[in-house]
Amino acid sequence: MVKRIVILGSTGSIGKKTLRVIDALNSSLVARPVRSKSSTSNGTRGPSLEKEKTKYEIVALTAHSSVELLAEQARRYKPKFVAITNADYFEQLSSAVGDLDVEILSGPDSLIEIAQLDQVDIVLTAIVGAAGLPAVLAAAQAGRQLAIANKEPLVIAGELLTKAVRENGGTILPVDSEHSAIFQAMQAGSREEVSKIILTASGGPFRKATVEDMRNVTLEEALSHPVWDMGPKITIDSATMVNKALEVIEAHWLFDMPVERIEVLIHPESIVHSLVEFVDGSVIAQLGEPDMCLPIQYALTYPRRVAGLSKHLRLEEIGKLTFERPNLKTFRALPLGFEVVRTGGTAPVVFNAANEAAVQEFLAGKIKFVSIVELVEDCLNKHNVKTSVSLEELLEADAWARREVRTKVHKSIRA
Ligand code: NAD
Ligand code: MG
Repeated sequence: MVKRIVILGSTGSIGKKTLRVIDALNSSLVARPVRSKSSTSNGTRGPSLEKEKTKYEIVALTAHSSVELLAEQARRYKPKFVAITNADYFEQLSSAVGDLDVEILSGPDSLIEIAQLDQVDIVLTAIVGAAGLPAVLAAAQAGRQLAIANKEPLVIAGELLTKAVRENGGTILPVDSEHSAIFQAMQAGSREEVSKIILTASGGPFRKATVEDMRNVTLEEALSHPVWDMGPKITIDSATMVNKALEVIEAHWLFDMPVERIEVLIHPESIVHSLVEFVDGSVIAQLGEPDMCLPIQYALTYPRRVAGLSKHLRLEEIGKLTFERPNLKTFRALPLGFEVVRTGGTAPVVFNAANEAAVQEFLAGKIKFVSIVELVEDCLNKHNVKTSVSLEELLEADAWARREVRTKVHKSIRA
């Protein structure tokens, strides 16, 4: 058996790990028992010892501007298509892969074409930010099986996206570790039997800090996550806890769960990836080493499990797993996240876009760490929420929030 994979954002942290997982899966050519066509002695069909081999084939890879890495990946994985969304790099990519039998696309719209390619089994979305929305929506409209790491499109257009998936016969498999954990734990009961979802959070590098301590945080400190090694935007989001707020919204849409039944618990060891509580009081959790290879692999091999790259847990070595309530005063992003889901409409769009713009300014050294969430809150306070929104209105709100943040930052720099 062959599974054909498209990776949107193959040069990022998740994209590169996905290719490592695929290498490992292909090198062991994972075997599984299949149902035999021949009948058993009593005339019924039974499982046989026959094995089926799954090969993971890369159909398309995309990047925004990392031409060299994309070219290297193209040489190694021989996809039929590569796309570079920043069209300025088209010539450079063309000359780098000119000798390969690969179609080269460029510009933001190339992602839509890639997302809707025929004869694709899984579209894995690993682009960062709202930039991934058009492609993921296109894949949903084409009824594709989506493996979603890129959470921002779900945050801003959860309703549109989940509706497109339902109406076109597609599916969503979560790649985010918490959501993969919930997805796995959910299998212990029926949807109606779930009483709540508990998302765990490492707490990031400033778990014990006060608002005062955070005033002088440097870029370097904010970029040093104690547990996870990720791309820069999500690393900053983890330090502000905006990431957890985005994940609450992501869980709300992925699992059709009212926000009142979603909780966040700080768990610094990052071993329990999330938990589901059922109506009888049973709590089912998924545990594992903090390693994205595991949830990526599960999304690729689902519904099967196979041996993979992730180190197995030795709980006796870890010894202690601790949990604490999040500090909602220091980490304002968290209550804001809950609030924007309750408000709905354009509120989550503005929350996300203002954050993306503010994180960009912080990464460029233009604002302080604490200003990120201040700018987000400020933007939300100014925004006139529209409750029922089309894609166009949603994109307008997104552009408005980004402009607001940029204007405010540039004014304060000039002042
Ligand atoms: P990253 O910055 O390392 O990689 C981003 C990828 O997206 C790159 O391939 C880049 O070329 C591409 N890209 C960037 N801007 C783009 C644009 N404007 N248009 C098209 N493509 C663009 O990011 P990451 O850490 O791999 O995160 C990717 C997504 O996965 C994010 O939404 C993040 O929240 C989510 N996620 C990441 C992790 C992790 O461990 N890194 C874990 C859970 C969820
Ligand atoms: Mg996560």
